[in-house]
Parts: sequence; C-alpha cells; structure tokens
Amino acid sequence: MRDFSQDHRWLSINTATVRKSRGQEVPLPDILDACARHGIGAISPWRDQVAATGLKTISAQVKSHGLKLSGYCRGGMFPASDAAGLKAALDDNRRAVDEACELNAACLVLVVGGLPGALAGKAAHKDIALARQQVSDGIGELLEFARNSGMPLAIEPLHPMYAADRACINTLEQALDVCDALDPGQSGALGVAVDMYHVWWDPKLQAQIERAGRNRLLAFHVCDWLTPTTDLLNDRGMMGDGVIDIPRARAWVEAQGFAGFSEVEIFSTGHWWQRETDEILKTCIERHRSAV
Ligand code: ZN
Repeated sequence: MRDFSQDHRWLSINTATVRKSRGQEVPLPDILDACARHGIGAISPWRDQVAATGLKTISAQVKSHGLKLSGYCRGGMFPASDAAGLKAALDDNRRAVDEACELNAACLVLVVGGLPGALAGKAAHKDIALARQQVSDGIGELLEFARNSGMPLAIEPLHPMYAADRACINTLEQALDVCDALDPGQSGALGVAVDMYHVWWDPKLQAQIERAGRNRLLAFHVCDWLTPTTDLLNDRGMMGDGVIDIPRARAWVEAQGFAGFSEVEIFSTGHWWQRETDEILKTCIERHRSAV
C-alpha cells in the first residue's frame, strides 16, 4: 500500500468539495488556481462548473497548470419515461464523453439514474426493475461510443438511500454484474468508481473489490460518514471525522493493483462550504496524509 503520509502527490480534488467558499459559489477557474497553488496535481470537475466557464477555456487552464483529471463528473441518468427521453439522455451522455476526452480525464463517472422524474419530485412510475434495465441498456449503447473515443466508463454505485432519485445501482456487486454482462472480456473500457461514502457499509465490499480487480477499478473517492448525518446529500464529512475505515479499504483496492488518485469528494452545505477555499484544501491535504 502506498505511503500517503509524506506528500500529497496522489491527492485529487473533486471540485464539488470547493464548489462554495463562505457559502458563495466559486468559479471553476478560481478553484483550479487554488489547487495549483496548493501543489495539488489532480482534480475531478463537474460538467455544470465546466459549462459555466466554457470547455475550451477550462481545458487550456488544466493544461497550463499541468493538472490531471482523476475523473469527470458526470454522465448517467439513463432512465426515462419515453423513447424521446431515453434518446435525449444518450445524446447528453455522448456529449459528456466528448468533454471528458477534451479534458483528458481518466474516466467518465456514471451516476446512472433512478426512477424517471423522481429527482424533480414526482416519479413517473414505481418499476425500479425497468429503471435498472434501462440503465443497463443505456450503458451498453454508450459503451460502444465511449470505446471508440478511448474514454473508460466508471459506474458509481450510490448508497441505497439514493435508489429512487439518483442511482438504482446501489452496490459494487450490482455494478460489476452490469460490467460482466456488457464487457465480459474486462477490456478496461467499463469499470467502477468506488466511492467510500456509498459503499463503506457493504458486507461484501472486500470480496467485490477483489472481484473487480485492476481492470475494473477506475476511481477511488473518499470522504467520511458523519454520525449523525443531518442531510442525505450535502452533509458529507472530511476524512477522519466519521466512521469509515478508509485506509483499510484503500489497502484492498491497492492490493488489486489500483495505483490512481485518491479523490476527495465532499458536499457539505452546513460546514465545509461555509469555510474559505484555502482552508478546505489545506484540510484535505492534511487528512489525505493522516486519514486516507
Ligand atoms: Zn463519488
């Protein structure tokens, strides 16, 4: 297992972590400058943040800072209630692949979607099996396109509390079943993003990490699970402040040969997004060294 205690060369910042400073939205160019200032070598930006500035501008800035992308957030949201909706989702996912290529990302992260309409507050139906089938079909179609572009797709299982509105793939086992069905040869074009916030509780975690193996372990996301958690989406903790044994899981992932970045992904309306960008990044660096 790699020693993270001496430096932060393997730290990546998911830019949602510093999306806000003192409660105010921070433009992505300022975030990239701050990461460079702190000697952080990798990021994972969100599509809306990139779009707000412009893809070409961000791409140029990424290059000039010499930043790598541990991933690009995100594609997915495949299920829809009609054919037009399914097609629109696929078209949008193809654009996400193109953007990920332009930014030279290590992978496009897929948050696959749940029941159509649920995220907006009104689910079109209650058939989660149908949603899961549409997810599998959608990834299958996107995989052809992504493979031609050379952009790996990383399915991110989300904690079951998000099954209705964000992702109906909720365990690593489920994600790997989809990988097995769509890419039985383990080509590296399709794999998983292991986000500790979503999978730490899973009794099969170690076994499924071993099942994934090097070819399918495409990303490793960290933060912590706070007790109590006060918001289902935006109360993620800083590594070391909660109950997740991150080093133990990192050892499992690295035992399979994963040697990529450890990406800090924290959504925290009440706490970290109220702090200054520099303070958040300084804390991420410290905790990367001591708690990851
Ligand atoms: Zn994640």
